[in-house]
Amino acid sequence: MREISHFINGKSVTGASGRFGDIYDPNTGQIQARVALATAAEIDDAVQKAAKAQAGWAAMNPQRRARVMFTFKALIEQNMEELAHLLSSEHGKVIADAKGDIQRGLEVVEFACGIPHLLKGDYTEGAGPGIDVYSMRQPLGVVAGITPFNFPAMIPLWMSAVALACGNAFILKPSEKDPSVPVRLGELLIEAGLPEGVFQVVHGDKVAVDALITHPDIRAVSFVGSSDIAQYIYATGASHGKRVQAMGGAKNHGIIMPDADLDQVVKDIVGAAYGSAGERCMALPVAVPVGQKTADAFIERMIDAARGLKVGISTDAEAHYGPVISAAHKAKVENYIRMGVDEGAELLLDGRGLKLQGHEEGFFIGPTLFDHVKPNMRTYREEIFGPVLQVVRAESLEEAAALPSQHDYGNGVAIFTRNGLAAREFAAKVNVGMVGINVPIPVPVAYHSFGGWKRSAFGDMNQYGEDGVRFYTKVKTVTQRWPDGDIGDQAFVIPTMS
Ligand code: NAD
Repeated sequence: MREISHFINGKSVTGASGRFGDIYDPNTGQIQARVALATAAEIDDAVQKAAKAQAGWAAMNPQRRARVMFTFKALIEQNMEELAHLLSSEHGKVIADAKGDIQRGLEVVEFACGIPHLLKGDYTEGAGPGIDVYSMRQPLGVVAGITPFNFPAMIPLWMSAVALACGNAFILKPSEKDPSVPVRLGELLIEAGLPEGVFQVVHGDKVAVDALITHPDIRAVSFVGSSDIAQYIYATGASHGKRVQAMGGAKNHGIIMPDADLDQVVKDIVGAAYGSAGERCMALPVAVPVGQKTADAFIERMIDAARGLKVGISTDAEAHYGPVISAAHKAKVENYIRMGVDEGAELLLDGRGLKLQGHEEGFFIGPTLFDHVKPNMRTYREEIFGPVLQVVRAESLEEAAALPSQHDYGNGVAIFTRNGLAAREFAAKVNVGMVGINVPIPVPVAYHSFGGWKRSAFGDMNQYGEDGVRFYTKVKTVTQRWPDGDIGDQAFVIPTMS
């Protein structure tokens, strides 16, 4: 059995715990490898080594650190095909989508190439008589990232590119379901000139995560995954004195106004709902047509569009999407479909029981479509994370907008309309962190920042962009004067500007 090892001090390190996680090929349902699950002692070893390496890396000037990022970017581009195949072989997303996963991470590497500019501090000359004030951003030290299975390249790069460019050492605990791409990224970083030990990959489950979020030498933890775990990471990390940003699950709505271009909306939503088998935190699993006429016309076209989708193995260039991540996840999604029927929603397309010829054991689920879903249903309130689109009908924009605003999750939302004023009002008022106007998956570009609201994110800083730089640095502010002779009497009153 092929074994996937940790990546510590620039080298592959065999796990010592004797515990392993199974890595499946979701296309065939067969185990293809096993991954070592780290002990707390192995985590500690990686942290100690990272701490040693970090001081030298932080002392390197920002322009030189940026050059490592430039070379890293070029290496990812050169290795795009190999990385995409590796990613898709463990995750199951189709190759074109795997390239998108890598590309969105690469764009954060491009952002990190601008680190000399981003780290420039503020300066006030003459803040008082002969007094200047300046501030600088300094790296935190050793920081950790804990990432989910659904974007094994993008999310590790969201975090690590910015953290490293700022001068930190980064310990990545990737998902134990598809851990190979993160290790490959570690190898490419070494090839790009990153000193050994500055980027470590330690695989594991709760044992490894708990060791990281309580470790005294880890200064900050960045987490992306499901909401209950995000909340746990946030609370535990914060109580151990760490900065924590913890992104959680989602249930994103797409509101369709009667004046929207319905053909375009169907094209947008079919991709956003079913792409990557719905395993995206910015997927669009809830459509909210406004008015019966819009709803009926939308449903009619969506049934045809969803029926026309090709579900295939991840290397099938014609497939729109591939299998889900595991047998357990397939069972969970199918259970939600059964629950939706039991709750009284109308099942228009049922993706359960899909068998692909020659891949009968693969984790495939066909496109599933529900109409007449109601806000009190459990299948509406919870995240399904599969190729399931739920239609909730609304009579007015107010009623439609209240749905995402009142939902527990608040990651992304979209509105489809030709009315600029309605869209503008909606964007201003909706209680959700990322809004798309005629854009179904509004993941902000790399120089903005990514973050949802409510149970979709715990902590107060977003991922990547300038918020990433703020998260991975601490500000030091210096007030200085260089007196020329006597500058007055002893002062027992706090200095003021009066
Ligand atoms: P998950 O919460 O199961 O796992 C995420 C990470 O947490 C993994 O590294 C895992 O090893 C670790 N983990 C799991 N259980 C743990 C426990 N009990 N204690 C400590 N650590 C634990 O999530 P997943 O299934 O890998 O990913 C899918 C979820 O991630 C979905 O809910 C999705 O919406 C969410 N997600 C959110 C965003 C976002 O930015 N908001 C982006 C991508 C995915």
